[in-house]
This record gives sequence, structure tokens and C-alpha cells, in this order.
Amino acid sequence: MHPHLERVLVTEEEIRNRTAQLGADIARDYADKNPLFIGILKGACMFIADLVRAVEIPLEIDFMAISSYGASSKSSGVVRIMKDLDRPLEGRHVVVVEDIVDTGLTLAYLRDVLVHRRAASVKIAAIFDKPGGRSVDITPDYCGFTVPNEFIVGYGLDHAERYRNLPYVGVLKREVYEH
Ligand code: 5GP
Repeated sequence: MHPHLERVLVTEEEIRNRTAQLGADIARDYADKNPLFIGILKGACMFIADLVRAVEIPLEIDFMAISSYGASSKSSGVVRIMKDLDRPLEGRHVVVVEDIVDTGLTLAYLRDVLVHRRAASVKIAAIFDKPGGRSVDITPDYCGFTVPNEFIVGYGLDHAERYRNLPYVGVLKREVYEH
């Protein structure tokens, strides 16, 4: 385990198994719909890469980058599109692929944007859900793991850009982010 972690929450094997299940669920729900998977950078990079390989139907991939926590561990509530989609999405069945839903502000905003652009449907796949942090009413349609209201890193999730490459997810020691 990385020395900056207090404990491991979800192992590499658990992530692999759960992602395979989610992929099978999505493949069943979207057969013949040629869904557009939108990965939210940077946190969802690991998850979207693993997820789409488990969705064995024709699909397309695009990415958006939106402002999030920055170097702090508190949500600012400010959401800004830093990188937009390459192609229009009118009429497309969209699966937004996100790392974690905390307050829900990011996804609530994004969902409204995509609906406004006339996607045929918008669903959310999040590998982690932190319902204890919620401030708006939003629930991922496909959820990997429910996690406690603590600051976690690994599998794409960072603190000040570090730890994204850990293949598992753990709780960061408080002294590391309170410096
Ligand atoms: P929300 O808008 O739902 O509060 O926050 C969503 C974003 O905040 C996530 O995409 C993620 O980038 C960041 N975030 C929320 N909780 C955590 C956490 O426990 N650890 C890390 N590293 N990022 C988090």
C-alpha cells in the first residue's frame, strides 16, 4: 500500500470484477443504440478505458474536461467546460463516464448541458458514489461502489495531480492533504 494512504478501500481485483459487470449491463441496455461514451477528464480516464473494453457492442468515445476540485479537497461548486466534445451529440444516446459523484454539482450541470444539446438520452456511469456528500438530487444509473464520505485517491482520482496511477483506491491520510 502507498505510504500516504490510511487504508485501501477497493482493490484492483474488485474494480476489475465490478467493471466487467457494469460493462455487461450497459451492453445489454444499449444493444443497437451505438451509444456515445463521454469520459470526464482527467479522473475518469482509467474507468472509461476499462469500462468500454467490457461493453461488447459498437460504441463511440469522446471526452470533456470540466473544472473540479483543483488542488483543494473541497468542491467549489463552480463548473466550467475546459475541453468540449469533438462532435455534435444531437440524437445520440449518451453515457457520461465519471470517476466519483460527491456533491453531484458537476454531473447535474453536465446533464443539463447535454440534454439542452438534444441528446436522445443521458445516463451516468460512475465507478464511485459518495452519497454522504450530496447537495443536489442525482443518482448514477450505473454505479461501481458506494464509498464513505472521505477523501479517496487512486484509479484516476488525484490529490494535487498525484496518485492517479494507483491501480486501487484508498483513503488519503489526513496529514497529507492538510499540509
Ligand atoms: P461533485 O461535483 O460531485 O462534488 O464532484 C465531482 C468531482 O470532484 C469528481 O469528478 C472528482 O474529480 C472530485 N472528487 C469528489 N470526491 C472526491 C474524492 O474523494 N477524491 C478525489 N480525489 N476527488 C474527488
